[in-house]
Amino acid sequence: MADTVAQAIRASAAALEPVSITARADAEHLMAHALGVSRSDMLLRHMHAPVPDQFDALVARRMAHEPMAYILGEEYFFGFMFKVTPAVLIPRPDSEVLVEAALAARPDARRVLDCGTGSGALLLAVLSNLGQASGIGIDSSQAALEVARDNAVSLGLADRARMLLADWNEPDWSRTLGGPFDLILANPPYVETGAVLEPSVRAHEPASALFAGPDGLDDYRVLIPQVPRLLAPGGCALFEIGALQGDAVVGLAERSDLSATLHRDLAERPRVVEMSPRS
Ligand code: GLN
Repeated sequence: MADTVAQAIRASAAALEPVSITARADAEHLMAHALGVSRSDMLLRHMHAPVPDQFDALVARRMAHEPMAYILGEEYFFGFMFKVTPAVLIPRPDSEVLVEAALAARPDARRVLDCGTGSGALLLAVLSNLGQASGIGIDSSQAALEVARDNAVSLGLADRARMLLADWNEPDWSRTLGGPFDLILANPPYVETGAVLEPSVRAHEPASALFAGPDGLDDYRVLIPQVPRLLAPGGCALFEIGALQGDAVVGLAERSDLSATLHRDLAERPRVVEMSPRS
């Protein structure tokens, strides 16, 4: 039995080794969370304290491959802290490429639409950097919208970001959104239904945000043909894609009279397709 915080961190870091490549850091974050203090405060001041009761339960969740972000209830994205729950995909660093590309493409955007907003990460990161813009995040999950609304409030964007229930597979889904838009963002589901995923992703993240048919392209097939009528003149759409989907998604864009360019992620893989009407 570990008597002190320091001993318990050491023991659980060893236990988490097979589950996590960041076992020691995970153990420290979980302990700081259980103590209700920051990690640096814990390391400076609490290492000899008794072990809080909740710690073992938190470690057990991580041992079952639950992502740290769900256990802690938050994740950083584009320099902002977002609340996350299992109702939303955890924002990933790769998606920051989409935010950067959107800000570069239309720094003057006034109206932004985010399709499948989840935690609101893409929309809220863009609006935080475009003081003149307002936007709508849509999602087919009411539970996700509640998370997105909480994030809009905590980032001080509630007056510029509306989070609305809509499903692009339904006819007329966009009629009440009040388009057209200068920027359309989307990180739709794009994983092949049969793909092998990390246990932390497949068992814990929402399947509805991940899977899009046998080739992972189902949602692009529905959304991309609708982009031209949703875009304002001079507008552009930026969709996240899977690393091997660049050619297929560029092809879908071209068949909808859009010109398309690819942006690469931190690992140099194609990650974002930027689309605008062919001139
Ligand atoms: N990038 C995510 C993953 O690889 C997938 C996100 C998505 O389908 N939109 O797990």
